[in-house]
Formats: sequence, structure tokens, C-alpha cells
Amino acid sequence: MDLHSVDNYLLPTDINKVTDWGEGWSWLAGGTWLFSEPQPDIKTLVDIQALGWDEIEFINSSHSQQEELLAIGATCPLIKLIEYPWLSEYIAVEGFRGAINALSASLKVVNVATVGGNICLALSVGTVAPIMVALNASYEIWNRQGKSRVVRAKDFQIGSRQTVLQSGELLRRVLIPVENLKWQVDYKRFGIAASDPALAIIVSAYNSVSKKLRLVLAASVNTPILLKFEGDLERNLNYISSLKNVDFIEDERASAVYRREITQVLIKQCLKELGVRS
Ligand SMILES: Cc1cc2nc3c(=O)[nH]c(=O)nc-3n(C[C@H](O)[C@H](O)[C@H](O)COP(=O)(O)OP(=O)(O)OC[C@H]3O[C@@H](n4cnc5c(N)ncnc54)[C@H](O)[C@@H]3O)c2cc1C
Repeated sequence: MDLHSVDNYLLPTDINKVTDWGEGWSWLAGGTWLFSEPQPDIKTLVDIQALGWDEIEFINSSHSQQEELLAIGATCPLIKLIEYPWLSEYIAVEGFRGAINALSASLKVVNVATVGGNICLALSVGTVAPIMVALNASYEIWNRQGKSRVVRAKDFQIGSRQTVLQSGELLRRVLIPVENLKWQVDYKRFGIAASDPALAIIVSAYNSVSKKLRLVLAASVNTPILLKFEGDLERNLNYISSLKNVDFIEDERASAVYRREITQVLIKQCLKELGVRS
């Protein structure tokens, strides 16, 4: 759709060239969301596609040379997470496949939408964020001078359509410890129809050596919620009681009680597939 309020479009090749910022300014990545509905408050679009960031690369952590990280540029199209030739030992990338297939109702969106766009949009039904939280990812955030800060994926989204990004800041890349790519990851989603927004998403990440389990609740809650378990999971895992204090969304699409029930069912399915519990 045409955005009639937009009277300025910038396509910088260097972030330092974005010298102005103010009310009505917005970053533009794949544009699949921005051009899908009227945006009366947006006057200037700053397209970040020419910054050359759509890479997938392996780097050493700046904190520890021993720690290797997978770095995914914010403008990396979602489809690349599926098409990339991952090493077979990186079994966690199955989680990427699950998350992106959950959007399969629209191939056009999957081909054009970016990893950063999906995360920064911060929908409660957002498909990428729960995977990143499950994999203990961090997000590198830049200001317009290119200065960076790093925020844990689990702390980035603070509400539906709300993140910790300050005005003029942008997500530069996602950083995932490579060791975590060896965790067994399962992505479960429930919606009334495949093309409907999800009512509940559960992502589980399990390390069968350390017996650590990370469960992430999403879509049934406003922001992804991380639950961590370890030890003898078959006996001690008490995920039902850990849902006791969770504030599930109650709206015209489903009650909080229904979302809680669905969440429990999805968790059971995940655990069965991980072989943690039958
Ligand atoms: C009909 C429809 C249904 C959808 N259903 C779902 C769904 O069920 N689940 C789901 O997960 N998604 C859903 N989406 C959202 C879809 O996945 C998004 O359109 C897409 O992920 C946004 O990516 P983009 O690169 O096109 O972002 P854009 O549309 O370009 O931008 C989206 C927002 O993110 C900001 N932004 C983008 N990149 C950055 C960055 N690097 N730093 C800071 N801010 C940034 C933009 O300013 C804008 O506010 C749906 C979209 C449509 C149109």
C-alpha cells in the first residue's frame, strides 16, 4: 500500500550519514509490515537495506576469544535462515525452520521480511523472538553514530509492540553462542487455522549432556517468557506450577484459561519429542 504521509525516503550506505532523527522517522527493513497498513505518523523512512548487513557469519566473542558466536545481520531475510548450509551438528537450526514455516501462510513475507524487522516489530505473536530467547541470544543495538550496546534477547521486548530501543536506535545483529546451536530445539505453534495468528507458541531448547532445558512461552503472553529447568528433568520438572504466575492474554480471540491449557498441551508435546517426558 502507498504510504501517503511519507514525504522523505533515505537509503544510507553508512549509518553515520543519518545525521537527523525525530518524530515521524522510522527505520525501513523488508517493509512487509510497514507497507501492509496505513502509517499516518510516519513522515520519513530510512531504508537500512543498503548498509550491507544481511550476513550470516561466525565470529569470536569480544568478551572471550574462546567463545564462538553466530552473528545474524538484522537485514538478513528470514528465508536465508532456512537456506543457509548449516553444519549437520547445528541441530538447533530446526527451530529456525519451525519458526519460519509458522509464517508459511505468506511466502512473499518470508522471502522479503528480515530477522531484525520481525524482532523489532515485537508482535506478541512474533515468530523469531522466542527462538532467539530459547538459544540465549543477545542483540547488538546501534545508535546513529554506530556506538553499540548489547541486550539479552529475553530482555529486549517489554510489551506487545514495545522494545527497549530508544528513539533513533536500531538492531544491528543477533548473536548466538555457537555451542547452543547443538541444543535440541523444538518449535510448537497453535492457531485456529494455519493462516491465523498463533494463540500459543512454545519453543524448547534442551541440552542432553548438561540436562538443561529452556522453555519459552510466546503468543499466549505479551512478551516471550523464559522458564529454565535443570537436573533430573524427568522427576523434577514442574512446568505446570511454573505457569501458575504467568499472565496469559485474555481477548476476543481466546480466553486466558484457554491459552493456558493450550500452552500446557504444547509443552507436553515438546517434552515428549525431546524424550524428556512421555
Ligand atoms: C498480514 C500479515 C500477517 C503477519 N502475521 C505474523 C505472524 O503471525 N507472526 C509474525 O511473527 N509476524 C507476522 N507478520 C509480520 C511479518 O513477519 C513482518 O511483516 C516482518 O517480520 C517484518 O519484517 P520487515 O523486515 O518487513 O520489517 P518492516 O516492515 O520493514 O519493519 C517492521 C518494524 O520494525 C522496525 N525495524 C525493522 N528493522 C529494524 C532494525 N534493524 N532496527 C530497528 N527497527 C527496525 C521498523 O521501523 C518497523 O517499525 C505479519 C505480517 C503481515 C503483513
